Order: sequence, then C-alpha cells, then structure tokens
Amino acid sequence: MVYSHSQLKTFDECQLRYRYKYLDKVPEPQVAESPALKFWSIIHASLELLYKKIQNSGQAPEKADLTSFFSVEMAKFRDQYNQLSEAPFPVQDFDDRIALWQQMIDRFYDQYAPFTATKVNGLEQHINFDLPNWAKFRGIIDRLDFQGDTAIIVDYKTDKAIAPLETFAESYQQQLTTYAIWVMQQYSHAVKKIEGKLIYLRFQKEITREITSEMLEQAIQKITEQISLIEKNLFDYNMGNKEAFQAVEGHQCRRCAYHVLCPLFKHKFKDDEVIVSEIGETTIKKLIDKFYILKKQEKEIEDQLQGIKEFLEEYVQSHLDEGWKAIYGDQAQLRVDYKNGYNAKPDQKDAVKQFLIEHNLLNLMSMTIKTNELTTVLESDPELLSQLSNLIEFQNKVIVGWAKEKKE
Ligand code: SF4
Repeated sequence: MVYSHSQLKTFDECQLRYRYKYLDKVPEPQVAESPALKFWSIIHASLELLYKKIQNSGQAPEKADLTSFFSVEMAKFRDQYNQLSEAPFPVQDFDDRIALWQQMIDRFYDQYAPFTATKVNGLEQHINFDLPNWAKFRGIIDRLDFQGDTAIIVDYKTDKAIAPLETFAESYQQQLTTYAIWVMQQYSHAVKKIEGKLIYLRFQKEITREITSEMLEQAIQKITEQISLIEKNLFDYNMGNKEAFQAVEGHQCRRCAYHVLCPLFKHKFKDDEVIVSEIGETTIKKLIDKFYILKKQEKEIEDQLQGIKEFLEEYVQSHLDEGWKAIYGDQAQLRVDYKNGYNAKPDQKDAVKQFLIEHNLLNLMSMTIKTNELTTVLESDPELLSQLSNLIEFQNKVIVGWAKEKKE
C-alpha cells in the first residue's frame, strides 16, 4: 500500500476518519473549497510559476506578471466559490485577502530577487520511496534547492504564527525528514548535508534546521511503526472488527466531512421521536436537553453546598469555646462534629506515609492516614510522636454535616 504524510497525519488525528477516507473511500461531499486552503494553493502556484520561469529561461518573470497571475487565479476561485456556496464571497473580505497576499508575493520577490542564492532542482516535486516494511511512501516537496553539496528542502508556510521549536520538532520536522529520506536515496552521490527550510511568507522569515542522519533513522522508524499499526488495524478490520479504527474527537472534527457516519455525531442527524413514559409525553431530544439542564443544576447546587458548608465550618471554628453540637436556621438544623487529632501537614503526606510504612504502622491504618488511628498510635507512643513532630500537626477540625428540619 502507498502512504503519504497527510494519510499518516489523518491516522494520527483520528483513525476512524482515516478508515472512511482511505479504506472505505467514502466520497467527501462536494462543497465550496475552503478559501484559506485555496489561497494557500494559489500562493504556491504563483511561487512555482516564478521558479519555473527561472528554470526554463534563466530569467525571473516581472513582479507584475506574478501578481497578475495571482489576481486572475483568485478571481477564478471567487467565481467557482460563488457558484457552489450558498452565500457569495464577501467583496470586502475578498479584496482584503487579495491585498494581503499580493503584498506577501511582492515582499518575497524583493527579498529573494535575483533568485541566484541557490540552485532550484525541483518544484512541486513528486516523491516515492520504499520503506523497510515494504510499504511505499509518497509526497510532494514544494521546492528542492542545492547549494554546493547541501540539499535544502523548502516548505512555504502561510501560518499566522511562527511555529515554536517543539511544534517544528513534532510536526514539520517529521514531514521534512520524511522527504529527506527520498533526497538521500536519490542524491546520495552528490549530497553531504540536508537542511529543512520553512519560509514563513507572512513574516518574511526563514527557519532552517539541519536534518541529521539520526533524524532520518528516527523518521524511518516512526513511519514504519505508524504503518505497522495501520496494517494491524486493517487486518483486524478485515477480520470483522468494526471497532479496529477508533474515533478520536478533537479539533479535526471541525473539518471532517463524515459527521453523518461517525458514531460521535450521527445521532444529530436522526429525526426526533415522541415518547410516552412515567414522566409524561415528550421527545428524545427534549429529554436529552432536560437531562443536561438538570445535570448542570446538580453541579451548581453541589458547588453552592460546598461553599456554604466551608463557610459554616469556619463559623463554628471561630466559636469553638461554645462546643455546639448543632447549629440552627429558622427551618432546619445541621449537625456539628469535631475531629481533633494528629494529621500529616498538607505538604508532608508522602513523608508521613513513608515513615509509617518503615515502622510497619500503615497496615494498622488501612493504607491511608486516618486522623483518629494516627492519633491513637501517637498518643500511646511519645517517642514516635517526637520523631514525627516536624511532619504532623494537631488539628481541631469542624465538620458540618447532616441537615434535618428543625424540631420546635
Ligand atoms: S467527526 Fe471527528 S471523530 Fe468522527 S470521524 Fe471525523 S474526525 Fe473522527
């Protein structure tokens, strides 16, 4: 089977989406292409045009040629979008985007003209190579440059922020390193060093990292492991295990086209049903909403109860001399208990536990430190009490508990 970086990424994000898309080959509905994605591809095409002209004629095109190519492609996209989409592309938004992206192309042109710093070897280069487990891998390199014996894999980014180092390591490095495996296989005779370069078009910034042989080994290992997992799941799936590819809910769901099939979402598309039960006549959807509202109220009530309890316990604590065993409202009374005894200081719980284990005392306390049991042990052994004195404290704890209606 042939794998690509985007297949592996899809599998990583949600195995079920991977199954729908690449195994069951469920067609994704025809919708107007996402503007962000389309703009990204038009920018790529404009830069490809720039370097293709240089490759073919040795001469860079005029900046105006590029911007006019860009504007024509954008206008074509807007017309297609307006045909497929329910609402037309907002005029102002479209003009703003054109202005922004044109500015980016302008700046790119000014920054790199006359485009002679590196030799461009490949543009939108389709790659294909074998992995140790016989699987095949394919991908597209935006641009492959050579500078002496260094191969530079260039990837254009239109992101709104520059990826921090960790993201680079987690995501882009994996992608660029995967492509580097192919470069190494193709050009091992001429290439001594490989670099991955991300060009952030919005910021006119480049991030370049060397792709070392260790990184290549790690990438091969990671891809091979991922593919082995996919193939294991595939085997289970073919043997009848419908749960072999698990749904993973996350940000990826927003742009997933399979809501109507996915067990996490498909109930949304079901017609409502009327039901009659001891709670009266209602519908499934209303019952679900009611359950949610009651659960929410339950949580709010729990929070309120906890707040009132803590407040009343502090109140009784500040009147310890009174020795109240109950406190009264107009309609109800609450029971008051006192727990006096030794307990571990909040930051010393592990140390006290360790001490008790070492002295064979923790069994006595059912593997948890209970104030009354610890107090009984310490009060009968002053030596032990002095050894633990830095780790424990004597607490006068008030507990406001069971409520009942006040008796007159
Ligand atoms: S909706 Fe989310 S959980 Fe369901 S298949 Fe798509 S990505 Fe996976």
